[in-house]
Amino acid sequence: MNNKHSIDLNFDREHIWHPYTSMTKPIPVYPVTHAKHNIIHLETGEQLIDGMASWWSAIHGYNHPAINKAMVNQINHMSHIMFGGITHSSAVELCKKLVDITPSSLTKVFLADSGSVSVEVAIKMALQYWLSQGIKTKQKLMTPYKGYHGDTFAAMSVCDPVNSMHSLYKGFLPEHVFVPAPTSKFSSTFEQSEALELEQYFKNNHQHVAAFIIEPIVQNAGGMNFYHPDYLACVRQLCNQYNVLLICDEIATGFGRTGKLFAVEHANIQPDILCIGKALTGGSMTLSATLTSDKIATGISEGEAGVLMHGPTFMGNPLACAAACASIDLLLEQNWQQRIEEINNQLQQLHKCIELEDVADVRVLGAIGVVELNKEVSNIDVATIQAFFVKQGVWIRPFGKLIYLMPPYISDENSIKTLCDAIYSAIKGKHYAKA
Ligand SMILES: *Cc1c(COP(=O)(O)O)cnc(C)c1O
Repeated sequence: MNNKHSIDLNFDREHIWHPYTSMTKPIPVYPVTHAKHNIIHLETGEQLIDGMASWWSAIHGYNHPAINKAMVNQINHMSHIMFGGITHSSAVELCKKLVDITPSSLTKVFLADSGSVSVEVAIKMALQYWLSQGIKTKQKLMTPYKGYHGDTFAAMSVCDPVNSMHSLYKGFLPEHVFVPAPTSKFSSTFEQSEALELEQYFKNNHQHVAAFIIEPIVQNAGGMNFYHPDYLACVRQLCNQYNVLLICDEIATGFGRTGKLFAVEHANIQPDILCIGKALTGGSMTLSATLTSDKIATGISEGEAGVLMHGPTFMGNPLACAAACASIDLLLEQNWQQRIEEINNQLQQLHKCIELEDVADVRVLGAIGVVELNKEVSNIDVATIQAFFVKQGVWIRPFGKLIYLMPPYISDENSIKTLCDAIYSAIKGKHYAKA
């Protein structure tokens, strides 16, 4: 595994964009040579316990032999083949599994290459559905504040307008209807006033609204908000009542992260359209899917266009589909509910952070743990806190005022303790002030 050539950090800094980063004043990046299980190996010799699962995706850790084996086997047949006019066993097998494990009304699968694209496809499905019904007025989307649905333009237009800097793209971005973010907490009681307020928005806007799009139960990148299942149930009911489709974006929450296989199960509802991605391949390849019902698919296909107007070059990529099949098998073969519950119990250690003066809130749901700092704390300096975390032997990447963990499901008790302790020490020592 030893790299003879060291990773050229100068070239990286001069020429390569990283996520949400300045090209002229980038924060440092850490050179990784390999990753295995829940350990990330740096070229400089440090071994870091992973607390991020590479942004919700690496649920089985890295370099998992079963996923590797499935990918090698697929490479030996073909890594890629176009999906137009062609099909293959990895796509068929994967879509069978997806139809099987997602809510029962979802029977039709569109494979795409990233989460954002699956959201674009979901939006197209909703618009095309109403057009096919001869209804031309439904061209807006409705969505709560604090949402996150990706960085492409249609997806961005339904992200929280402040977090995603809508003002930068004003005039270019389509404008949609924003409703208040859910406020009743996951484990408290549901405030009926939220339902009444939502109903007003539906009443006033439904004629122009094609679909309501929401992340079920956990609003992630928009603030790690864990909200009450009755909010989602209420949205479902209002969508039925006012003829609005429901798009659930489970790109982050899917595949067990919240304690249910899909977070919609907390509210016992069926979406009209479902987006999945991130953990779909166990974090090994980029792949996403948009699922919908017979009703929507039939509507679209019998409308004027007669087809769904989307077809990525790498649609149904065999290598990614093979990895996804292996990842889903791995998940379902184990008692994953118990695994998530164990991680949940261990993440409760984060609650001791509440005694620290800078901490506003600590919350844990499924295999997600969040420590939120006070408003008064100026934003966390990511470079400073990451340098501290690397010294502690952990990989954690906060954003805004949130320091959070979503470790791979294979993480052991000691790893989680080390992650939680590192967060406590970072806050106690205020290792987030700009150095
Ligand atoms: C990450 C994410 C997306 C975007 O997925 P990409 O693969 O980054 O394009 C969309 N919605 C949610 C809820 C996400 O967490």
